[in-house]
Amino acid sequence: MHKKFFLNLLSFVFLLVLVSCSSAPVIPLYEYPTDWKNPVDRENAIKEYSKYLIGRKIFLDPGHGGEDRKNKSRDGKIIEADVNLRVALNLKKYLEEAGAQVFISRDVDKTVPLADRSELANKSGAEIFISIHHNAPGKTEDDYTDYTAAYYHAKDVNYEYEPCNHDIAKFIERDLAYVMRNSGGLGSFDGTYSDYNIYPGEGFSVLRKTNIPAVLIECAFHTSHWEELRLNNEAFNEIQAWGIFRGLAKYFRSGRPEIVFIPDSMRIQNDMLHAAFSLHDSTGINPKTIQIFFNKEEKDFHFDKANNIVSVGITPVVKGSFPIRVIAANKNGNHSFPYHKEIVISDSLKATLKD
Ligand SMILES: [Zn+2]
Repeated sequence: MHKKFFLNLLSFVFLLVLVSCSSAPVIPLYEYPTDWKNPVDRENAIKEYSKYLIGRKIFLDPGHGGEDRKNKSRDGKIIEADVNLRVALNLKKYLEEAGAQVFISRDVDKTVPLADRSELANKSGAEIFISIHHNAPGKTEDDYTDYTAAYYHAKDVNYEYEPCNHDIAKFIERDLAYVMRNSGGLGSFDGTYSDYNIYPGEGFSVLRKTNIPAVLIECAFHTSHWEELRLNNEAFNEIQAWGIFRGLAKYFRSGRPEIVFIPDSMRIQNDMLHAAFSLHDSTGINPKTIQIFFNKEEKDFHFDKANNIVSVGITPVVKGSFPIRVIAANKNGNHSFPYHKEIVISDSLKATLKD
């Protein structure tokens, strides 16, 4: 009796030693976002976000595909083009469930030239363009590099920089990086990057040639050993899409000012051109963010806070056609969509505003 008990105890201890020696610590590949893991919570979240997404027109651009399938994970098992597509199709599903209208540059594995992607977006009538990619290390990085990045076009010192692109990048970056439990990298404080960091003065072709607000996301590095395990998992691709979806919904929730030209304000008097614009936003306008450019030069302006009207006087008056551009942000920090018009000053010294 005693002997049997002793033998049992011995085999139990042996087993315990065996198990503790052989099992490596289990590292979870990912966590389910709390508002996603339960289908009821997910539906409720989509319903809540639909308040801000219903009727929105979004263009999705899953990068690469077709003849362009060269970007692969280290073991060659996953192709960047396929992961981009899986994330984009999941995002399309969530956006449509929330009542948005979604356009997509490809919904299968096919070749779409870069120029066509921008052209499709420009003709689609969409409000925002989101290009979805996964990253590979540059010369100074190694195979352990892995972070989430959202790119906008140009830098804030450049005329071609549109601050609304940066706003969208921030919102998407935050929620995408958060659900993936990734950092935003060390190259920027918030994980958003100018595409001029990669191609100085040019940026990414899809961001430069797309004339609606546009961002390009590098969700993670497909070259990382750890990340490739996650990217190969379709549930994880859904979680990635969920992060972008949430970021986009929160961006729209924060609103943005609308800029409306006041036709009666346009006149030429004492060799000065006058023009005024009303700025609409339910949260209010932050006066410190207003900028007016005439012929690509920043101009002084007057802001009537009580009526949210910004007016500008430009001198001397010269006949010709000149671009005018207005920028303003609301009290949540979101900037207006690009407002670029043309002021035509005719022979008779009469001015008109054109698109
Ligand atoms: Zn790519």
